[in-house]
Amino acid sequence: MRAFRYRRPADVAEAVALLGADPEAAYLAGGTNLVDLMKLGVQRPDLLVDVGRLPLDGIEELPDGGLRVGATARNSDLAAHPVVRRDYPVLARALLAAASGQLRNMATTGGNLLQRTRCVYFQDTAKACNKREPGTGCAARQGQNRDLAILDWSEQCVATHPSDLAVALAALDAVVEVVEVGGAREVPVTELHRSPGEHPERETTLPRGALITGVRIPPLPAARRSAYLKVRDRASFAFAVGSVAAVLELDAGVVRDVRLAYGAVAHRPWRAYRAEAELRGRPFTPELAALAADAELNAARPLRHNAFKVPLVRAITVRALTELAEAGA
Ligand SMILES: Cc1cc2nc3c(=O)[nH]c(=O)nc-3n(C[C@H](O)[C@H](O)[C@H](O)COP(=O)(O)OP(=O)(O)OC[C@H]3O[C@@H](n4cnc5c(N)ncnc54)[C@H](O)[C@@H]3O)c2cc1C
Ligand code: SF4
Repeated sequence: MRAFRYRRPADVAEAVALLGADPEAAYLAGGTNLVDLMKLGVQRPDLLVDVGRLPLDGIEELPDGGLRVGATARNSDLAAHPVVRRDYPVLARALLAAASGQLRNMATTGGNLLQRTRCVYFQDTAKACNKREPGTGCAARQGQNRDLAILDWSEQCVATHPSDLAVALAALDAVVEVVEVGGAREVPVTELHRSPGEHPERETTLPRGALITGVRIPPLPAARRSAYLKVRDRASFAFAVGSVAAVLELDAGVVRDVRLAYGAVAHRPWRAYRAEAELRGRPFTPELAALAADAELNAARPLRHNAFKVPLVRAITVRALTELAEAGA
């Protein structure tokens, strides 16, 4: 293993300054993704700035009825929080559908959002990968691409973003709080991750060294009836093959509000705005849900091994929305 230095900053300002001063430094939070990638030689930071123990783990109700989640709040604590369970079940379910209990005890909110793709060629330093080494090619294009993108991929990269949490947060219109060298700012979670385009090595819209300090979830009474459906290869401890986060509010059977986001279909969590537009203001039926999913998935460009994802995502959209409607959304 390559030698690296380790620092534990006293506060956010010191953490950001340390990253700003060293282009090879990386933040370490729970370490459940970064340390694995270091062992594989995929990431080779010379300095780890451990932000996992900064006092950023609070989960607080906000005066407007929303929720603020600190960047180092552990995934298990967030999933178990009574307000999350009551007001944002989609979030609790997405978290509990991810990884394992032990991993969720370590994994943080910030680290989960910024975890790297699970594309197997990205993780294999013997294979060509534009994300790992720009300009080397994309082994997944001609290789095994069953688990990869169907939407918004580029010739340079067809990877997907693996986070379940990010998909739920996209459906909830959450906002990410960030501190960077120039000061603090906020980024809607739907604008945090980039499409791969010509530069798949750039995964987010954040500048290098930006520290996520928290996530704010706006009040959304409709989210009390919300769902997360995830299809995976085994019942636990597996990443999504496809997933949907859904919020549905009906008024006398008519869709008053709906939020939909898909996971494991694109380089970023995919907010399904076209599907939402099809549904809003119309009497809900499972047939309408299927039409809405089609409106979103018409843009899909499946790869050689993953055409099955189109009907799969359509089916889980219909199921999630129908179950919410039947539960009295
Ligand atoms: C076997 C296995 C199965 C898994 N299954 C799933 C699954 O089904 N669904 C799912 O969503 N996830 C899954 N995961 C991934 C897991 O959720 C992530 O590894 C975890 O959430 C990352 O959080 P962390 O705190 O450990 O991040 P770290 O590994 O510490 O960091 C991850 C990245 O984020 C950066 N970072 C961390 N915190 C910050 C911050 N505050 N600001 C800026 N940058 C930061 C780091 O520099 C690094 O690049 C799985 C992981 C494993 C090992
Ligand atoms: S899909 Fe992206 S991450 Fe995977 S090999 Fe191609 S460039 Fe690398």
